[in-house]
Order: sequence, then C-alpha cells, then structure tokens
Amino acid sequence: MRPIIHCILFDMDNTLIEIPDTHSYFDGLIQEVIAKDFHLPMPSVESRDQLWRTGDDFIQVLKSWGIESYKQFWHFFDKRDVIGRKKLMQDGKMQLYPDVLHFLEKMKKKSVSMAIVTNTPKFIAEPELQEFNIIRFFDYIAGLGDIQELCKPNPEGILQVLNHLGYRASETIFIGDSVVDALAAARARIHPILIRRKKKIPKFPKELDEKSVLFLDNLTDIHDYFQIIGKQEIINEQSN
Ligand SMILES: [Mg+2]
Repeated sequence: MRPIIHCILFDMDNTLIEIPDTHSYFDGLIQEVIAKDFHLPMPSVESRDQLWRTGDDFIQVLKSWGIESYKQFWHFFDKRDVIGRKKLMQDGKMQLYPDVLHFLEKMKKKSVSMAIVTNTPKFIAEPELQEFNIIRFFDYIAGLGDIQELCKPNPEGILQVLNHLGYRASETIFIGDSVVDALAAARARIHPILIRRKKKIPKFPKELDEKSVLFLDNLTDIHDYFQIIGKQEIINEQSN
C-alpha cells in the first residue's frame, strides 16, 4: 500500500525553478560580499563551498573568514541576490522545470495542501514565484532566510509550516534537490524526496541514511510511491 499524503512541501530553487550555473552564481555572490561589503581577503573555494553545503556550522565558517556578524553577512548577501535574480529573470535565464506546472495543477485539483519552504528570504522568493505565475498554488510561503536559525537543515522551519497548515509529518512529503533539504526533512520526520535535476547524487552526511531518501527523476514519478489526495476530497467522498 502506498502511504496516503495530504500535504506537499517544496523547496524552490533548483527543485521548481532552475537557477543556471547555481554554484558559480552563489559563489559569485559570496565573493562579492567578502570583497566589496566586508573588504576581507578571499577564502579558498573549499572554504566558500562549506558555507552553503554544510548548513549547520555556517556561523563558524563565517567567523573563520573574520566575519563576526552572520546577520550582516546574510543581509549583504540577500541584497546582492535580489539584484542578481532580477537580472537572470530579465535575461530569461531562470526557468520553471518542464514537469512543474502540470504537477502543481494536478495537485491543486485534488485539493492537496502545498507550501514552499525555501532558505531564500520571502522578499526574494515571492516575486520569483509570481514571475513564474505559480504563487497561486501555494497555501503558504516560508522564506526561512528571514530568520537564519530556522533555515534548513534545521527542521524548525519545516515544523512551523506543518503546524501552521495543520498537517502531521506522516501525511506530508518534502520535495527538494539538495542534501540540506533531505536532512531537514528527515529531522522533521517527513519523508525526504530528492529530484535529480542535475543528475548528480549529492554526498550524504553520516546522520542521513541514503536508503531513507527517495530519489526521483521527475515529479510525476511520485505517484508510484505515494497516494496523494487532498483531505477535503476524502471528506467529500465519504459524505457522497
Ligand atoms: Mg534547492
């Protein structure tokens, strides 16, 4: 029997919307913040990668570069990110993955509750979802970047969204593209699903059992593993 799911949480970047050359885009922003906002010597590429790959110890990483205020760092980062994304969108370089619209429409028809849980702050996430005309599908947009402590892989942000929507972890799936997504979902006891957008399997930390994560090539394949149906739909069927 496939588990019954009433609620789907989605990561945004590179799960629903493609950012081209993601690594060089984000690494470029980090370099600009270090050089132009903090005027500090450039850390190695390995050290810079650590910042957004590990998630958990970003405060330590920033300290090792000489940045004491992580809030200030992310403030500068977000300021540059919003400009960077605007340019990518204007140039038509960001795009919706081809399976996204059909899947969201199908789920909406079934009255499945859907929310975005992104580490990007809300003031950046919302215009992006509007630009691609998919904001209408979501009951809630959680831009966790507004409060760094809630960001994935910390499960706290996800748990707050679940609480807000009124669903249990057992009737929810989390769909993302990165280790940080899978780790946060597993910590929140939500089934982690990773879409192989880039065809590359990420390196997992010891804490996360690779076998507990479902890898899919596209969103449609989810139906092979889960029965996804809106709660209201069930109530309607029972009363008919
Ligand atoms: Mg992502």
